[in-house]
Amino acid sequence: MSARRILVVEDEAAIRQMIAFNLSRAGFEVDEAEDCSTARLRIADSRPDLLLVDWMLPDSSGLELTRTLRREEANREMPIILLTARAEERDKILGLDGGADDYITKPFSPRELLSRINAVLRRAAPPSDEPLIAGELRLDPVSHRVFVGEREIGLGPTEYRLLKFLMENADRVYSRTQLLDSVWGQNVYVEERTVDVHVRRLRKVLEEFQVDGYIQTVRGAGYRFSTR
Ligand code: CA
Repeated sequence: MSARRILVVEDEAAIRQMIAFNLSRAGFEVDEAEDCSTARLRIADSRPDLLLVDWMLPDSSGLELTRTLRREEANREMPIILLTARAEERDKILGLDGGADDYITKPFSPRELLSRINAVLRRAAPPSDEPLIAGELRLDPVSHRVFVGEREIGLGPTEYRLLKFLMENADRVYSRTQLLDSVWGQNVYVEERTVDVHVRRLRKVLEEFQVDGYIQTVRGAGYRFSTR
């Protein structure tokens, strides 16, 4: 799967660049726009997978942009997260009416931003029924079963989700924090060490079936699933 593209619409350059920096570092492709009219051009141009839109923009509002896109056949389903400096309930309700998928209130941490983005992207993507295959290893997302050749591997639910996530994103490195957000879910606060424990268990089971070396440790960075 190629990198997902995110369009960041924010007029404050410092905030926009901070967001772009963090998203790039997390492996996203990032486009930037400083107002709604530029955003419209970028959307037509490069069809982002997700829009991150500030509430207050010089030529219109993020809410207005959201509403407009929701009325258009081509953009009706586009995942949109609104950024707002105002946490008032009224804004949230207005935003929901406008059709945003989620909100983030400033100031936010890069980790919160990424976990919201990943959650919205996950909800937006229709789950695939296709089995994931790597060498002799086959994961069937419909039955939640994992096989090596004809033999079934028994995995705990966390090891299953971890393996599925890594196989879906093969050859990409994920930090422990990214794995926590993507596999354990947002707002779940467990220690990063937990990731190591489950990786170890998963490796052990795979090794029992002579599947070795697919889950690789990348020193100082995290883990990667790769058959190479
Ligand atoms: Ca603004």
